[in-house]
Amino acid sequence: MKPDITPYATEEIPKMLEVIAGLVNKGHAYPAGGSVYFRVNSMSDYGKLSHRSLDSMMAGARIEPGEEKEHPMDFALWKAAKPGEPSWDSPWGKGRPGWHIECSAMSLRYLGEQIDIHGGGQDLIFPHHENEIAQSECFTGKKPFVKYWMHNGMLQLGNEKMSKSLGNLVTIRQVLERHTGDAVRLFILGSHYRSPLTYSEETLSAAESGAERLRQVAGIIPNGQASAAIDVEAYRTRFQEAMDDDFNTSQAISAVFDLARDINRERDAGHDISTAKALFTELTGILGLTLKAPESGTTDAAPFIELLIATRKNLRLVKQFQLADEIRNKLAELGVTLEDMPQGTSWKKK
Ligand SMILES: [Zn+2]
Repeated sequence: MKPDITPYATEEIPKMLEVIAGLVNKGHAYPAGGSVYFRVNSMSDYGKLSHRSLDSMMAGARIEPGEEKEHPMDFALWKAAKPGEPSWDSPWGKGRPGWHIECSAMSLRYLGEQIDIHGGGQDLIFPHHENEIAQSECFTGKKPFVKYWMHNGMLQLGNEKMSKSLGNLVTIRQVLERHTGDAVRLFILGSHYRSPLTYSEETLSAAESGAERLRQVAGIIPNGQASAAIDVEAYRTRFQEAMDDDFNTSQAISAVFDLARDINRERDAGHDISTAKALFTELTGILGLTLKAPESGTTDAAPFIELLIATRKNLRLVKQFQLADEIRNKLAELGVTLEDMPQGTSWKKK
């Protein structure tokens, strides 16, 4: 789904400066050498998200040359401009925002001082999300900044994490050229969101045949007589309990597949499966599955192309050859070629 708001970090500098200034005023931050640092010692529960104490973080931490920090774990809210880098004006001189401050600023501006759910990859727990908490809670004085953190496992290709820097990347666009959106959804929901997910063509193909099985059930029109022997409420409970268990989607999906199997069996027995089918539609909708037939490219456009061919034929009958040719040429531009044969006109798509 498209987001309601699409903020850009570069357009949120004023809010970032406001938060940084507020933190300086409250003693949670200090300027040094044109930069501004967050003072980790000013927050008694710093490290609560990643369950680390400042003492344990100290091991191995050091202050880099050129950094004028009070404590090695203090992190930059604002970085003094370096030659050749983009920079903005600030009360502490020209510079640019630190990595974490943009998230606190945008979240405060668009979602308020406290939010229910914050998502992100597991690799962002420390330092990024830890520091978002520090900035936001110290600025607003309200705890918690976030009620629920949902950290997802990394998407892997083979044994390695997929990443831009490693170059082992498969984009969602490339995947959607070969598989339906529902197959991708089933693949992702097939394991718990906190577990790592391994991408392969085989798992995607397996997900595709799963999607196809569900599509067939979605296409069933109930017309049986005696009511089906399916415990619909038990399925609803099973699905709900799985989802209430920190979104255990793989369990929820297996309930949906079992329900689908029951529906098929009862339909074959000539029973009325309308109640079970209604639950099936509801549950697959919760999982975001569309269960639409895959677009084959030709099927969607076919009736409209046929309509244009019939119109062109009629135009030729009334000797409107120019208009008839226009239809043919415009279709060719769209990649549809017409071929006139004695028995009529056929078409093919590039
Ligand atoms: Zn962030």
